[in-house]
Amino acid sequence: MASRGRSNPVQLSIVNAPSQPQSLAGAVVCSPLHCRGCGYNLYGLSAEGRCPECGLEIWETVQHTVDPAASRLPVLRNPRAVGNGLFWLTLSLFVAAVILVARPVARRLDTLDPTGLRDISAWTPLYLALVAGVVVLAGLRAAGSFAPPKGQELHGSIKRDIRLLVAGMAAWVLLVVIQVGLEWKAVPAWGLGLARIAATFGAMVGLFGLDGILRAIGQRSRAFRTARGGRQGVLAMIGALAGVVLGELMGMGAAMSSRAWGGLATMGMVVTWISTLMLLIGLAYLVVNGWWIRRALCRPPPALDEILNQPGDEESTN
Ligand SMILES: [Zn+2]
Repeated sequence: MASRGRSNPVQLSIVNAPSQPQSLAGAVVCSPLHCRGCGYNLYGLSAEGRCPECGLEIWETVQHTVDPAASRLPVLRNPRAVGNGLFWLTLSLFVAAVILVARPVARRLDTLDPTGLRDISAWTPLYLALVAGVVVLAGLRAAGSFAPPKGQELHGSIKRDIRLLVAGMAAWVLLVVIQVGLEWKAVPAWGLGLARIAATFGAMVGLFGLDGILRAIGQRSRAFRTARGGRQGVLAMIGALAGVVLGELMGMGAAMSSRAWGGLATMGMVVTWISTLMLLIGLAYLVVNGWWIRRALCRPPPALDEILNQPGDEESTN
Protein backbone atom coordinates (compact mmCIF):
# COMPACT_ATOMS: atom_id res chain seq x y z
CA MET A 1 0.00 0.00 0.00
CA ALA A 2 2.28 2.71 -1.23
CA SER A 3 2.15 6.41 -1.86
CA ARG A 4 -0.38 6.96 -4.63
CA GLY A 5 -3.29 5.16 -3.06
CA ARG A 6 -3.93 7.64 -0.24
CA SER A 7 -7.56 6.75 -0.09
CA ASN A 8 -9.25 9.28 2.10
CA PRO A 9 -12.88 9.21 3.21
CA VAL A 10 -13.81 11.56 0.40
CA GLN A 11 -12.85 9.01 -2.24
CA LEU A 12 -14.77 6.28 -0.51
CA SER A 13 -17.92 8.32 -0.31
CA ILE A 14 -17.67 9.01 -4.03
CA VAL A 15 -17.60 5.32 -4.71
CA ASN A 16 -20.70 4.69 -2.65
CA ALA A 17 -22.68 7.59 -4.05
CA PRO A 18 -22.39 8.41 -7.73
CA SER A 19 -24.05 11.76 -7.18
CA GLN A 20 -22.29 14.69 -5.60
CA PRO A 21 -21.12 13.65 -2.14
CA GLN A 22 -21.81 15.73 0.94
CA SER A 23 -18.12 15.89 1.65
CA LEU A 24 -17.60 18.24 -1.28
CA ALA A 25 -18.94 21.08 0.87
CA GLY A 26 -16.45 23.91 0.61
CA ALA A 27 -14.11 22.04 -1.75
CA VAL A 28 -12.38 24.21 -4.31
CA VAL A 29 -10.85 23.25 -7.65
CA CYS A 30 -7.12 23.60 -7.01
CA SER A 31 -5.64 22.64 -10.36
CA PRO A 32 -6.37 23.68 -13.96
CA LEU A 33 -9.51 21.71 -14.75
CA HIS A 34 -11.39 22.33 -17.96
CA CYS A 35 -15.16 22.10 -18.09
CA ARG A 36 -16.38 18.99 -19.87
CA GLY A 37 -19.07 20.99 -21.57
CA CYS A 38 -17.30 24.06 -22.86
CA GLY A 39 -13.63 23.86 -21.87
CA TYR A 40 -13.77 26.79 -19.46
CA ASN A 41 -11.01 26.70 -16.87
CA LEU A 42 -12.67 25.93 -13.53
CA TYR A 43 -9.61 26.67 -11.43
CA GLY A 44 -10.45 28.32 -8.11
CA LEU A 45 -14.20 27.69 -8.29
CA SER A 46 -16.29 25.84 -5.75
CA ALA A 47 -16.77 22.17 -6.60
CA GLU A 48 -20.42 22.45 -5.66
CA GLY A 49 -21.23 25.10 -8.21
CA ARG A 50 -21.83 25.15 -11.91
CA CYS A 51 -19.67 26.22 -14.82
CA PRO A 52 -20.11 29.99 -15.28
CA GLU A 53 -20.00 29.58 -19.04
CA CYS A 54 -22.30 26.67 -19.82
CA GLY A 55 -23.93 25.80 -16.49
CA LEU A 56 -22.70 22.21 -16.34
CA GLU A 57 -22.22 20.98 -12.77
CA ILE A 58 -18.57 21.22 -11.88
CA TRP A 59 -18.84 17.93 -10.01
CA GLU A 60 -19.58 16.21 -13.31
CA THR A 61 -16.31 17.43 -14.80
CA VAL A 62 -14.45 16.39 -11.64
CA GLN A 63 -15.93 12.92 -11.70
CA HIS A 64 -15.15 12.51 -15.36
CA THR A 65 -11.53 13.51 -14.79
CA VAL A 66 -10.84 11.50 -11.66
CA ASP A 67 -12.36 8.07 -12.41
CA PRO A 68 -13.33 7.25 -8.81
CA ALA A 69 -13.88 3.57 -9.60
CA ALA A 70 -10.27 3.12 -10.67
CA SER A 71 -8.84 5.06 -7.74
CA ARG A 72 -10.59 2.70 -5.32
CA LEU A 73 -8.56 -0.28 -6.57
CA PRO A 74 -5.36 -1.42 -4.90
CA VAL A 75 -2.24 0.29 -6.19
CA LEU A 76 -0.12 -1.70 -8.63
CA ARG A 77 3.53 -1.95 -7.80
CA ASN A 78 4.66 -1.14 -11.31
CA PRO A 79 1.68 0.03 -13.36
CA ARG A 80 3.81 1.03 -16.35
CA ALA A 81 5.48 -2.37 -16.63
CA VAL A 82 2.18 -4.19 -16.17
CA GLY A 83 0.53 -2.02 -18.82
CA ASN A 84 3.35 -2.58 -21.28
CA GLY A 85 3.47 -6.30 -20.50
CA LEU A 86 -0.23 -6.75 -21.07
CA PHE A 87 -0.13 -4.85 -24.33
CA TRP A 88 2.87 -6.78 -25.69
CA LEU A 89 1.28 -10.04 -24.65
CA THR A 90 -1.95 -9.35 -26.53
CA LEU A 91 0.03 -8.13 -29.54
CA SER A 92 2.21 -11.24 -29.55
CA LEU A 93 -0.85 -13.50 -29.50
CA PHE A 94 -2.33 -11.64 -32.45
CA VAL A 95 0.89 -11.66 -34.46
CA ALA A 96 1.46 -15.36 -33.75
CA ALA A 97 -2.07 -16.16 -34.89
CA VAL A 98 -1.61 -14.19 -38.11
CA ILE A 99 1.67 -15.98 -38.81
CA LEU A 100 0.06 -19.37 -38.22
CA VAL A 101 -2.92 -18.60 -40.43
CA ALA A 102 -0.97 -17.00 -43.28
CA ARG A 103 0.27 -20.19 -44.86
CA PRO A 104 -2.94 -22.21 -44.80
CA VAL A 105 -4.67 -19.23 -46.38
CA ALA A 106 -2.05 -19.19 -49.12
CA ARG A 107 -2.48 -22.92 -49.63
CA ARG A 108 -6.22 -22.55 -49.94
CA LEU A 109 -5.73 -19.92 -52.57
CA ASP A 110 -3.32 -22.22 -54.38
CA THR A 111 -5.57 -25.24 -54.45
CA LEU A 112 -8.72 -24.16 -56.16
CA ASP A 113 -9.64 -27.58 -57.45
CA PRO A 114 -11.85 -29.80 -55.23
CA THR A 115 -9.22 -32.50 -54.93
CA GLY A 116 -7.11 -30.03 -52.99
CA LEU A 117 -9.42 -30.33 -49.96
CA ARG A 118 -6.98 -32.70 -48.29
CA ASP A 119 -4.52 -29.87 -47.95
CA ILE A 120 -6.38 -28.46 -44.98
CA SER A 121 -5.05 -31.26 -42.80
CA ALA A 122 -1.50 -30.20 -43.59
CA TRP A 123 -1.87 -26.54 -42.80
CA THR A 124 0.93 -26.16 -40.30
CA PRO A 125 3.95 -24.73 -42.00
CA LEU A 126 7.23 -26.14 -40.91
CA TYR A 127 9.20 -23.19 -39.71
CA LEU A 128 6.65 -20.37 -39.64
CA ALA A 129 4.96 -22.19 -36.76
CA LEU A 130 8.24 -22.06 -34.86
CA VAL A 131 8.42 -18.31 -35.45
CA ALA A 132 4.89 -17.99 -34.04
CA GLY A 133 5.99 -19.99 -30.99
CA VAL A 134 8.94 -17.69 -30.42
CA VAL A 135 6.67 -14.64 -30.69
CA VAL A 136 4.35 -16.05 -28.02
CA LEU A 137 7.29 -16.87 -25.75
CA ALA A 138 8.45 -13.27 -26.11
CA GLY A 139 4.95 -12.12 -25.15
CA LEU A 140 4.98 -14.37 -22.10
CA ARG A 141 8.34 -12.93 -21.17
CA ALA A 142 6.70 -9.49 -21.18
CA ALA A 143 3.97 -10.91 -18.98
CA GLY A 144 6.65 -11.56 -16.36
CA SER A 145 5.90 -8.05 -15.12
CA PHE A 146 2.61 -9.34 -13.72
CA ALA A 147 4.52 -11.35 -11.14
CA PRO A 148 4.13 -10.17 -7.56
CA PRO A 149 6.96 -8.23 -5.92
CA LYS A 150 9.20 -10.14 -3.58
CA GLY A 151 7.74 -10.45 -0.13
CA GLN A 152 4.39 -9.09 -1.25
CA GLU A 153 2.23 -11.90 -2.50
CA LEU A 154 -0.60 -11.14 -4.84
CA HIS A 155 -4.21 -12.04 -4.36
CA GLY A 156 -4.89 -15.72 -4.85
CA SER A 157 -7.00 -15.41 -7.96
CA ILE A 158 -4.63 -13.35 -10.09
CA LYS A 159 -1.74 -15.59 -9.10
CA ARG A 160 -3.73 -18.54 -10.36
CA ASP A 161 -4.60 -16.65 -13.55
CA ILE A 162 -0.95 -15.88 -14.26
CA ARG A 163 -0.08 -19.53 -13.76
CA LEU A 164 -2.86 -20.64 -16.10
CA LEU A 165 -1.72 -18.15 -18.72
CA VAL A 166 1.93 -19.16 -18.58
CA ALA A 167 1.26 -22.90 -18.32
CA GLY A 168 -1.34 -22.89 -21.11
CA MET A 169 0.69 -20.81 -23.54
CA ALA A 170 3.92 -22.68 -22.79
CA ALA A 171 2.10 -25.95 -23.45
CA TRP A 172 0.79 -24.48 -26.69
CA VAL A 173 4.31 -23.54 -27.82
CA LEU A 174 5.65 -26.98 -26.88
CA LEU A 175 2.88 -28.71 -28.80
CA VAL A 176 3.48 -26.50 -31.81
CA VAL A 177 7.12 -27.58 -31.79
CA ILE A 178 6.02 -31.21 -31.52
CA GLN A 179 3.65 -30.66 -34.43
CA VAL A 180 6.45 -29.33 -36.59
CA GLY A 181 8.51 -32.39 -35.72
CA LEU A 182 5.61 -34.71 -36.55
CA GLU A 183 5.02 -33.06 -39.88
CA TRP A 184 8.70 -33.24 -40.68
CA LYS A 185 8.56 -36.98 -39.98
CA ALA A 186 5.50 -37.15 -42.22
CA VAL A 187 3.23 -38.88 -39.71
CA PRO A 188 -0.36 -39.64 -40.78
CA ALA A 189 -2.87 -36.81 -40.81
CA TRP A 190 -4.72 -38.03 -37.72
CA GLY A 191 -1.49 -37.81 -35.68
CA LEU A 192 -1.05 -34.20 -36.69
CA GLY A 193 -4.71 -33.55 -35.99
CA LEU A 194 -4.33 -34.87 -32.45
CA ALA A 195 -1.28 -32.66 -31.88
CA ARG A 196 -3.20 -29.63 -33.15
CA ILE A 197 -6.15 -30.40 -30.89
CA ALA A 198 -3.84 -30.77 -27.89
CA ALA A 199 -2.17 -27.45 -28.74
CA THR A 200 -5.58 -25.78 -29.03
CA PHE A 201 -6.48 -27.00 -25.55
CA GLY A 202 -3.25 -25.48 -24.26
CA ALA A 203 -4.21 -22.15 -25.82
CA MET A 204 -7.65 -22.43 -24.19
CA VAL A 205 -6.12 -22.84 -20.75
CA GLY A 206 -3.88 -19.84 -21.41
CA LEU A 207 -6.86 -17.73 -22.49
CA PHE A 208 -8.74 -18.63 -19.30
CA GLY A 209 -5.81 -17.16 -17.40
CA LEU A 210 -5.72 -14.09 -19.62
CA ASP A 211 -9.45 -13.59 -19.04
CA GLY A 212 -8.93 -13.37 -15.28
CA ILE A 213 -5.95 -11.04 -15.67
CA LEU A 214 -7.88 -8.69 -17.97
CA ARG A 215 -10.80 -8.62 -15.57
CA ALA A 216 -8.56 -7.68 -12.67
CA ILE A 217 -6.21 -5.21 -14.35
CA GLY A 218 -8.71 -3.89 -16.90
CA GLN A 219 -10.79 -2.38 -14.12
CA ARG A 220 -8.21 0.38 -13.95
CA SER A 221 -9.08 1.56 -17.43
CA ARG A 222 -12.36 3.41 -17.79
CA ALA A 223 -12.31 2.81 -21.55
CA PHE A 224 -12.09 -0.95 -20.98
CA ARG A 225 -14.55 -1.00 -18.08
CA THR A 226 -17.28 0.91 -19.83
CA ALA A 227 -16.79 -0.24 -23.44
CA ARG A 228 -19.78 -2.14 -24.75
CA GLY A 229 -18.99 -3.07 -28.33
CA GLY A 230 -15.22 -2.78 -28.32
CA ARG A 231 -14.48 -4.94 -25.34
CA GLN A 232 -13.46 -8.40 -26.39
CA GLY A 233 -14.89 -11.30 -24.44
CA VAL A 234 -12.11 -13.81 -23.95
CA LEU A 235 -14.64 -16.53 -23.32
CA ALA A 236 -15.98 -16.02 -26.85
CA MET A 237 -12.47 -16.64 -28.12
CA ILE A 238 -12.25 -19.82 -26.09
CA GLY A 239 -15.49 -20.78 -27.81
CA ALA A 240 -13.85 -20.08 -31.17
CA LEU A 241 -10.97 -22.38 -30.18
CA ALA A 242 -13.53 -25.05 -29.37
CA GLY A 243 -14.82 -24.51 -32.89
CA VAL A 244 -11.32 -25.11 -34.23
CA VAL A 245 -11.19 -28.40 -32.33
CA LEU A 246 -14.60 -29.37 -33.67
CA GLY A 247 -13.60 -28.59 -37.25
CA GLU A 248 -10.42 -30.57 -36.76
CA LEU A 249 -12.32 -33.57 -35.42
CA MET A 250 -14.73 -33.43 -38.36
CA GLY A 251 -11.82 -33.34 -40.77
CA MET A 252 -10.19 -36.30 -39.03
CA GLY A 253 -13.45 -38.22 -39.04
CA ALA A 254 -13.86 -37.60 -42.74
CA ALA A 255 -10.26 -38.62 -43.46
CA MET A 256 -10.66 -41.93 -41.63
CA SER A 257 -14.01 -42.92 -43.08
CA SER A 258 -15.25 -43.80 -46.52
CA ARG A 259 -16.00 -41.61 -49.51
CA ALA A 260 -19.60 -41.20 -48.39
CA TRP A 261 -18.33 -38.83 -45.70
CA GLY A 262 -16.89 -36.33 -48.14
CA GLY A 263 -19.39 -33.69 -47.03
CA LEU A 264 -18.06 -33.95 -43.50
CA ALA A 265 -14.64 -32.79 -44.64
CA THR A 266 -16.16 -29.71 -46.23
CA MET A 267 -18.20 -28.96 -43.13
CA GLY A 268 -15.16 -29.42 -40.93
CA MET A 269 -13.24 -27.04 -43.13
CA VAL A 270 -15.99 -24.41 -42.96
CA VAL A 271 -16.21 -24.72 -39.17
CA THR A 272 -12.44 -24.42 -38.84
CA TRP A 273 -12.22 -21.34 -41.04
CA ILE A 274 -15.12 -19.52 -39.42
CA SER A 275 -13.70 -20.25 -35.95
CA THR A 276 -10.26 -19.11 -37.05
CA LEU A 277 -11.66 -15.88 -38.45
CA MET A 278 -13.53 -15.23 -35.19
CA LEU A 279 -10.35 -15.89 -33.30
CA LEU A 280 -8.33 -13.44 -35.38
CA ILE A 281 -10.95 -10.71 -35.02
CA GLY A 282 -11.11 -11.38 -31.28
CA LEU A 283 -7.34 -11.15 -30.95
CA ALA A 284 -7.32 -7.85 -32.86
CA TYR A 285 -9.89 -6.43 -30.44
CA LEU A 286 -7.83 -7.76 -27.57
CA VAL A 287 -4.83 -5.76 -28.78
CA VAL A 288 -6.98 -2.62 -28.74
CA ASN A 289 -8.15 -3.47 -25.22
CA GLY A 290 -4.54 -4.04 -24.17
CA TRP A 291 -3.67 -0.61 -25.54
CA TRP A 292 -6.49 1.03 -23.56
CA ILE A 293 -5.36 -0.63 -20.36
CA ARG A 294 -1.74 0.26 -21.01
CA ARG A 295 -2.70 3.90 -21.54
CA ALA A 296 -4.70 3.97 -18.31
CA LEU A 297 -1.83 2.41 -16.36
CA CYS A 298 0.90 4.58 -17.83
CA ARG A 299 -1.06 7.80 -17.53
CA PRO A 300 -3.52 7.19 -14.71
CA PRO A 301 -6.23 9.78 -14.06
CA PRO A 302 -5.40 12.15 -11.22
CA ALA A 303 -6.56 11.40 -7.69
CA LEU A 304 -9.37 13.50 -6.32
CA ASP A 305 -7.14 15.30 -3.85
CA GLU A 306 -4.96 16.50 -6.72
CA ILE A 307 -7.91 18.35 -8.20
CA LEU A 308 -9.95 19.48 -5.24
CA ASN A 309 -8.80 21.34 -2.19
CA GLN A 310 -10.81 20.18 0.78
CA PRO A 311 -11.31 22.57 3.69
CA GLY A 312 -9.66 21.01 6.75
CA ASP A 313 -8.48 18.25 4.46
CA GLU A 314 -8.60 15.02 6.46
CA GLU A 315 -11.90 15.69 8.19
CA SER A 316 -14.67 13.42 7.09
CA THR A 317 -18.26 14.54 6.93
CA ASN A 318 -19.77 11.11 6.45
ZN1 LIG B 1 -18.72 24.84 -19.12
